[in-house]
Amino acid sequence: MAEFTKKFLPEGGLNAAGWTVGVDLGGTKIEAALAAPDGALVARPRAPTPRGDYAGTIEAIAALVATVTACAPADVGPIPVGVGMPGALSRRTGLVKNANSTWLIGKPLDHDLARRLGRPVRVANDADCFALSEAIDGAAAGADVVFGVILGTGVGGGVVVGGRPLASPNGIAGEWGHNPLPWADPARDPAHACYCGKRGCIETYLSGPGFAAHAGIGADAAEIAAAARAGDSEAAAALDLYCDRLARGLAGAINILDPDVIVLGGGLSHLSELYERVPTYWKKYVFSDHVETRLTPPLHGDSGGVRGAAWLWRDADPAAILAWSPPHDDAPP
Ligand SMILES: [Zn+2]
Repeated sequence: MAEFTKKFLPEGGLNAAGWTVGVDLGGTKIEAALAAPDGALVARPRAPTPRGDYAGTIEAIAALVATVTACAPADVGPIPVGVGMPGALSRRTGLVKNANSTWLIGKPLDHDLARRLGRPVRVANDADCFALSEAIDGAAAGADVVFGVILGTGVGGGVVVGGRPLASPNGIAGEWGHNPLPWADPARDPAHACYCGKRGCIETYLSGPGFAAHAGIGADAAEIAAAARAGDSEAAAALDLYCDRLARGLAGAINILDPDVIVLGGGLSHLSELYERVPTYWKKYVFSDHVETRLTPPLHGDSGGVRGAAWLWRDADPAAILAWSPPHDDAPP
């Protein structure tokens, strides 16, 4: 695998930029890590997210970044920071949009963090960071087109092409969770309301809460899977229907993007049944006589967000980082 993996790695190791910091800004916790030039993660502090408090969120990130940068050798120069977050920066306005951490919406997060930290900052969608981590040196290492899928409390996704997150005008590449479930049958797949204002979104079937709600047997996703394995026929049917719905959802994505690899992340990615059944079931739905697409669990588990955030600086020019200066207070966001 080493030779294959190298094609997306710069000379001198995983981080041409040298030492970098990755921050995974989640709705309930923030995690930071210091990444060494060889890709090893050093120090992994976490803190609760100050929900509803933008200034507090900036300060919590600053405290974690100070903690991890203190672990770096003294002579490594400026250490840039990558941040993965739910949502995206609007290419048009530079402001956060689509974040379920709603107190971030409309804020120039990268600008404010760069000013507070005194370091260069790159911000990206957390699913893009997950996909990037797996595409560079994870379960999809060396693959040209990678679709990273989050199956957790929500359903999201990110696309990495040629070792880089796909730069797209709306910042939503891979956001398949609010597409309708393909080949939905009202009798088999009753549509539930989605927080986005529509009904029958993929997320309402395939998120953890969506799976539990559709199963309707008073159990969460992990309990349903455990009961199915123990021989409970109702739970087994619910789990099988989940696999078929996931196969339909991913078939729709394959028909458009045709990725080499689909990597699953989030809590439901731990269900081994998905990898056994979905690639069989999606043959019924993908518009191709053979489906070469590989479906895989993540290699880096829950570390994907913070790793991918650090890798946002993977291909940066070290000279540009050295020459960087903080934005002024009166600079436009
Ligand atoms: Zn929706």
